[in-house]
Amino acid sequence: MLKHFIDGQFNPSSSEETFPNVDPATGKQISKVAEGTPEDIDRAVQAARRAFDGEWSAMTQGRRLDLLQRVAHGIRARFDEFLEAEMRDTGKPRAFASRIDIPRGAANFEFFATIARALEESAYQTETRDGLGAVNYVTRQPLGVVGVISPWNLPLLLLTWKVAPALAAGNCVVVKPSEETPTTATLLAEVFKDAGVPDGVYNVVHGHGPDAAGEALTRHPDVSAITFTGETRTGTAIMEACAPHIKNVSFELGGKNPAIIFADADLEKAVAGTARSTFSNTGQVCLCSERVYVQRPIFDEFVEALAERAEALTVGDPFDDATEMGPLISREHQQKVLAAFESARDDGATFVTGGGVPELKGSFAEGCFVEPTILTGLDEDASAVKDEIFGPVCHIRPFDSEEEVVELANDTRYGLCAAVWTENLSRAHRVAHQMEAGLVWINSWFLRDLRTPFGGVKLSGIGREGGRYSLDFYSETKTICVKL
Ligand code: NAD
Repeated sequence: MLKHFIDGQFNPSSSEETFPNVDPATGKQISKVAEGTPEDIDRAVQAARRAFDGEWSAMTQGRRLDLLQRVAHGIRARFDEFLEAEMRDTGKPRAFASRIDIPRGAANFEFFATIARALEESAYQTETRDGLGAVNYVTRQPLGVVGVISPWNLPLLLLTWKVAPALAAGNCVVVKPSEETPTTATLLAEVFKDAGVPDGVYNVVHGHGPDAAGEALTRHPDVSAITFTGETRTGTAIMEACAPHIKNVSFELGGKNPAIIFADADLEKAVAGTARSTFSNTGQVCLCSERVYVQRPIFDEFVEALAERAEALTVGDPFDDATEMGPLISREHQQKVLAAFESARDDGATFVTGGGVPELKGSFAEGCFVEPTILTGLDEDASAVKDEIFGPVCHIRPFDSEEEVVELANDTRYGLCAAVWTENLSRAHRVAHQMEAGLVWINSWFLRDLRTPFGGVKLSGIGREGGRYSLDFYSETKTICVKL
């Protein structure tokens, strides 16, 4: 059974309730997981507060950051265990998880330990009437206990993306991983213990969100901030729960991201890039392109080439090295994606390819798979074009002019990212500046420099994380004014 990790110890739930953890590739149960209660959250928050008031804050920053480097080494030393756990929990193909999820999980600790050492502080000289002046200097202080609530699509990567900077800034954390993917957060607890990180600095409480452990964490009065990645409507609920205590929040939420392909694009690269941005991780990346706009002269050629790539994808056993696309995360999510296909069908979509469940043999016949799917012919107000599906699917629509496509791309409640494919440099910059999004890729997708700010506009989130932007969120600044 996967237990909570509170104050350096693995604990069952105070209620003794459990829930099943299921492998989405086979539909079989992998493990039982402790269902956290508000009492468990309270114990974890108190442990984190004690560690914060005690050993963690008393330690020099250098020692704290050395410990985070050891956590990075600890993940790398157990790479295969982390990899297998992540693949079982999510159904991700080995090629993806071994190249992205686990390396980034380790790199996040290394990166934030390095960035925190190099952080500059600022000072300002102020003129005064007596001519002697004053000096203001700005210090940073940790917030205290930070609540981390993470999703299932990139479990270790997105959890460590928040835990690493929170700890590097001197906070302690209580983590509530997604109920769909509890294993790597638990393995990480073992790594923390082996690295010698003091008890109470990293705590994990498993369980569900509403009326359960997740909500209890957001409502706890001793939690200073909540950092959350997940669905937009969950963000709304968390914001309401945080309001009474005016908690700081950082939200990385949903998207309905456009990819824009101009007729002067390098077609081969644009097709390959859009195939990646639509089908990677079975379309379960917040940055995936679900709306593709292609300039009319190359529309037919582009659609045909993308469909060819979709049909060539090897779908099935995540542990087979040849597999390029695994299942969706759960039966429930599979039903949701299939319902979105039905709604597109009702709205008159043309299914260029896909739209159903692939026929897989043996144990994978019970997996939560769907086919890579390409739609055309829908109006912009169809649900499949407006609402996030979070599956391996995009809708492709032709456009004529730059002005028209900018308007179409921005006509959404979301604003996480956009991809623009063109060989015209001026146009690339011009369009990028007009995109209502936190991140715009030109002739690429998913290329990330961890020093840059990451986050969305509109319903895609609040705040920015990445590099010093993360450390800004996980610290409070204080100005000290010294009259000379
Ligand atoms: P989700 O919102 O359903 O769940 C995320 C986490 O929130 C889980 O741990 C869940 O238990 C918890 N939760 C749910 N309700 C809660 C509540 N009322 N109070 C406290 N906690 C609660 O999201 P998901 O289905 O796990 O993830 C998919 C979504 O995440 C998609 O919308 C995707 O776009 C988004 N996402 C965004 C980013 C980004 O960086 N913007 C990255 C990855 C995923």
